[in-house]
Amino acid sequence: CGIVGYIGPQRAAQVLLQGLQKLEYRGYDSAGIATLNEGELLCVRAKGKLRNLAEKVEQLDIVAHVGIGHTRWATHGKPEEHNAHPHRDSRDRLAVVQNGIIENYRELREQLQARGHIFRSETDTEVIPHLIAEALPATPSANGLLEAVRQAVHQLEGAFAIAVICADYPDELIVARQQAPLVIGFGQGEFFCASDTPAIIPYTRAVLPLENGELARLTPTGVEVYDFEGHRLRKTPRTLNWNP
Ligand code: GLU
Repeated sequence: CGIVGYIGPQRAAQVLLQGLQKLEYRGYDSAGIATLNEGELLCVRAKGKLRNLAEKVEQLDIVAHVGIGHTRWATHGKPEEHNAHPHRDSRDRLAVVQNGIIENYRELREQLQARGHIFRSETDTEVIPHLIAEALPATPSANGLLEAVRQAVHQLEGAFAIAVICADYPDELIVARQQAPLVIGFGQGEFFCASDTPAIIPYTRAVLPLENGELARLTPTGVEVYDFEGHRLRKTPRTLNWNP
């Protein structure tokens, strides 16, 4: 239902929680964040109000500078903590949040299970981290995560927007869009993504809405946009007029 992402010098967990608050008006049944905290993927999720998630997060003192967050409106799988996003691969190296519906998730799930992937939820979303994990190179490479996400989205049918982080790529946040909204925010040495602008507006008014069939890599130094075929696209952010 709601997606947020952050990479930059601020404490990611705080930025993510604030962003999720701004998306609360859309409605949700559970929420979660994943960060890359001191080299490890740290995933925190809670059923019900954001307050429940915030209480868990506050107990952890998360110092991470990159992360993704989600408020879920369940479509596949009950509104329970184990179905809340982010979802992870079997090795807990990468995490994904998704808005929308993966129409062909049943076939993908059966194929992935037959290849040994262990599923921990009933969601359509969980196929995505497993597909990405399978496409990652054995040792991290310059475009390893970007390429793996690109290969994964090629296999997905439906309307979706996703955000991805991976412990082996600590300076990257990858986003992709197909028929569901996703906006990138450009700050000074920090970058944001969200399913809707209210989550970004407190930080910057320089935004770039992704188009269908586009993915982007956010790093601490900039944003690169590609199409699903892997071609680099020239894009510049525009300035939002916003009268709160
Ligand atoms: N279909 C996904 C799920 O049920 C995402 C729902 C949403 O957009 O919040 O987990």
